Amino acid sequence: MHQGLTAETKALLISIGSGDVDSSLLPDELKTIATAGPGAGGTSFFISDGLHRVRLTLNTESSLKIIPWRDGVAVRKEGRIIAYGKFELPLCHCPEQAYITVSERCIFDCKFCPVPLLNGRVKTIDEIITMVECASKNGDLEAISLTSGVAESPEKKVEYMVRVVRALAQHYNLPIGVSVYPTDTSSEKLYAAGACEIKYNVETMDPAIFERVCPDLSLDYIVSALEKAVPVFGKNHVSSNFILA
Ligand code: SF4
Repeated sequence: MHQGLTAETKALLISIGSGDVDSSLLPDELKTIATAGPGAGGTSFFISDGLHRVRLTLNTESSLKIIPWRDGVAVRKEGRIIAYGKFELPLCHCPEQAYITVSERCIFDCKFCPVPLLNGRVKTIDEIITMVECASKNGDLEAISLTSGVAESPEKKVEYMVRVVRALAQHYNLPIGVSVYPTDTSSEKLYAAGACEIKYNVETMDPAIFERVCPDLSLDYIVSALEKAVPVFGKNHVSSNFILA
């Protein structure tokens, strides 16, 4: 099958991270504003060729230019088309998913992360259910992903996430994935509440870099939590994020 977006090209696009799109090509419903992670606060869009998907941040200075192409769009770099596909509709921050940041504030101070500076709110369970409801009306919702900053303490955050997951599991027969900073019992509690995937982010496996960029967190603790989560959630249901720079 001929691909408009290969794994190699996707890696290149991610390494650049942004694209310049004429506003006439990209209506508001195709844009989303990230509320978590290194890109929090930025406006993003998704392109897919049906096999691979990439998220890029809108940036008029980007070296990647998004242009109309056949019945979709192409990505042009230095005058050459390097990928093509179609814009995808984010149902709730992500195509096919409701991707929800439960707490948009955090007491920690990871150097790459704008969440502590954004100092946002903690969403109520009713708000979260309403967001999932809207996402399911917008298209084929296939999964719910929850992430969160730590508003007060990791333990309190996990307790709240347990309540959120339990409420969502009662309303929706959909896979629920959770990303939080771990606690001693977070895997068991979240699994029992109805989560089927867990993500504890190491960000880097270099202890010196970790200490510098995540001064309030423990890499050893996260790695140990990942190991302990596998027997709870099962193989291929435990993951972690790395940041490449
Ligand atoms: S734990 Fe670190 S990466 Fe996660 S939201 Fe807080 S500051 Fe950001």
